[in-house]
Amino acid sequence: MQSFLPLINIPVSAPHQAINLLPANTQIREIRVFLESVLEEKAQRKRFDQVLKSLLQAEFLRVQEERIFHQQVKCTISDEKTCRVCKKKMGNSAFARYPNGVVVHYFCCKDRGVCPTEQ
Ligand SMILES: [Zn+2]
Repeated sequence: MQSFLPLINIPVSAPHQAINLLPANTQIREIRVFLESVLEEKAQRKRFDQVLKSLLQAEFLRVQEERIFHQQVKCTISDEKTCRVCKKKMGNSAFARYPNGVVVHYFCCKDRGVCPTEQ
């Protein structure tokens, strides 16, 4: 039991550090409880990571679906189209389109979340 004393304050999350401190003649049965707790901790962590991975994958797919939905919207910029902020023609400038269809110059788009016509 004396070989366990150095292990008491070492977290289970760093078992390799604890194992490195063990004398070479340590018997497995002497550290069985420790090894079981390490394996259980690793198994719990793996299950948690699998659940997290699945949740992130579902969120990724949801965002992809939303992106595809928004990219399907057709936006035609004609020669007469003007920016709703500065009132100048759009020309060949980069532009931003709000979900309500309002089109502005990209540099006139100060807040992506708030349409300038709705302020
Ligand atoms: Zn503008």
